[in-house]
Amino acid sequence: MISWSLSAEFFSIIILSILILSFHDRRWGSSPQSRLFHVCLWLSAASVGLNILCVFTISRASSFPLWANILLNSVYFLMTVLVSVLISHSIFSLIYEHVDKKNGLVLLRALLAFFYIAYCILVILNVRTGVIFYFDAHRLYRRGPLINFGYVIVMAEILLVVLCLLRHLKSIDRSMRRVLWIIPPAIFLQVLYQIAFPNILLNGSIVVTADMILLLNFQTRRLEQDSLTSIGNRAGFYHELSAQINSHRQFQVIVMAIRHFGSVNQRYGHSNGDALLYKAALWLDHFDKKGCAFRLGSVAFAILLPYEDAASSQANLQKITERFQKPWELGPVNIQLTAQFAELIYTGQDWDATSILEFLRYGLSLAAEAPSGCIPFQEGIYEQMELHQDVLSLMRRSIKEGRFQVWYQPLYNCRTHSFTSAEALLRLPGDDGSWIPPSLFIPLAEEHGLIDDLHQIVLEQVCRFLGSRSLPELSSVSINLSMQQFSSPDLIARIVDCAERFHVSPSQLKLEITERMLSENPDRMRASMRSLYLLGFHFYLDDFGTGYSNLSTLLDCPFSCIKLDQSLIREYPADRRSKAILDSMLKLFHALGLQVVTEGVETSAQAQALREKGTDWIQGYYYARPMPEDKLLPFIRGASNPLSPEGAS
Ligand code: C2E
Ligand code: CA
Ligand code: CA
Repeated sequence: MISWSLSAEFFSIIILSILILSFHDRRWGSSPQSRLFHVCLWLSAASVGLNILCVFTISRASSFPLWANILLNSVYFLMTVLVSVLISHSIFSLIYEHVDKKNGLVLLRALLAFFYIAYCILVILNVRTGVIFYFDAHRLYRRGPLINFGYVIVMAEILLVVLCLLRHLKSIDRSMRRVLWIIPPAIFLQVLYQIAFPNILLNGSIVVTADMILLLNFQTRRLEQDSLTSIGNRAGFYHELSAQINSHRQFQVIVMAIRHFGSVNQRYGHSNGDALLYKAALWLDHFDKKGCAFRLGSVAFAILLPYEDAASSQANLQKITERFQKPWELGPVNIQLTAQFAELIYTGQDWDATSILEFLRYGLSLAAEAPSGCIPFQEGIYEQMELHQDVLSLMRRSIKEGRFQVWYQPLYNCRTHSFTSAEALLRLPGDDGSWIPPSLFIPLAEEHGLIDDLHQIVLEQVCRFLGSRSLPELSSVSINLSMQQFSSPDLIARIVDCAERFHVSPSQLKLEITERMLSENPDRMRASMRSLYLLGFHFYLDDFGTGYSNLSTLLDCPFSCIKLDQSLIREYPADRRSKAILDSMLKLFHALGLQVVTEGVETSAQAQALREKGTDWIQGYYYARPMPEDKLLPFIRGASNPLSPEGAS
């Protein structure tokens, strides 16, 4: 008579009950995988229960009909191997989730089915052959020669799992990989132990181990689920992106952000707001059966779809944008949502999930400004963004490391025929020795809050240079100011402080303000200018001819000089209209008591005509390009020629 130890089976039943209860929660979602796992849990519990029952009926074999004992044991053997086959099937499905070609999965499924059918035949034949188990003449349970055949199948499944993991390691995300790797050794050791000590029943603990590991995988996924809408959250999106990139898939991402959702909450209440988000999320998740949606932020969603061709991805984008042009029905009310959209198509570019998230954020910010509210995919905008990010990080480093340089472009004084003033222009050397144009880095610095730092660099260097009095011929230097600086409360204090520190008189420092700044915010500009003007600082109106300021605004501000933009000079003096405009401007400003600098003068014909017409200053490559501080002194004293064009602008 065999005596079995059932302790492990009882423990397993308790643990399985806990697993079943905790999994019985609607938030686990109802994906095919979670449904399959649910079935595995129930079958595991049933097989362990059946095992305990079999031990009971075997020990009292004489009280039960023989056929009932044989039937119960046969069902037990069939059920145990069925559980192992289903668990293996779950693991294979998880591994193949991000693998494009599913031929391998089909083959594995066929193998599992083959194993199981073979085992079923063996168990049915066992009734006659007794190769797995039989009851002897005294109704005692006996093990047959193939009693461990079920474990051979389990071992084969473990081997297949290991091979499959190795083959598709790249396509499995990291957290899942860690979880899945625990299964083979944990099961293998227990099966060995079971074969070595058949009287200590471990069937329950083997299936519990596998179930727990699968549950861990679901737990990891649950962390990637949005609690309100049940679709994936930002972390889930990140993992999905990484997995798709690693498995070399091509995909389309459409991100969208709902606008003014606060007013929906205010008007219809937060619970209706939540219900609406749920509805929209569900629609996005289901609008195409090959795609899935993620909630990236409170009102931002991403839809990930396989990329087939340009036409179908365009159709996807259109479907989504069109849906958001229609109202959403919520009980008795129809609510109209507005949203902005950006699209990205990944066809194997050298991008990772982090940069894709950045691109999408950038795309959405562009969409916020686009009249259509939608930015369809253009690789160029993301390349531009990458360039902007590189320049931004270069700027941050250059500020820290003091790599910015201030160059000077001398201004030719038409009355004294000498260079008595200069404009300070910022220069940013790139890592490869090239120069980053100010037209690129200045707007970026303005956008990302670095302009005050840049302004401080220019101010300090110019004041130090003027204060050193190494070039007394230079009576003044002008510096450029940006709009953002006028919103900083300490602009005036900073300028005054710097000038005082280096003993520079206000008349030596001219402040340039562009016409565009003046037309955007005339009142604020006027107020700040007045305060500085009263302290003795003079203002130049820069880039005149490019903005839309009206003459009375201009006259209201304390400008001492107007700088005519180089676009006005380009055709001068050959073009009649350009000549007429420029000549009359010169007359007008002189009549108003203002001095005039003409910018962008590149030819002797331009310089001569302008001198004849009485321009006060000429700034342009004809006379001098911008140059570093150490070249300025020899240049002004006539000891050197203007610099080579490289790095001048
Ligand atoms: P801007 O204030 O109009 O500066 C004059 C620009 O015209 C300079 O370009 C100068 O190199 C260029 N230039 C001068 N003469 C000629 C010429 O004859 N032909 C041509 N084609 N160009 C000429 P740069 O240095 O590239 O600066 C571009 C702009 O960047 C500046 O235009 C200014 O708006 C901005 N910027 C430069 N430095 C600073 C700064 O320190 N602060 C601020 N806020 N803006 C700056
Ligand atoms: Ca300027
Ligand atoms: Ca200018």
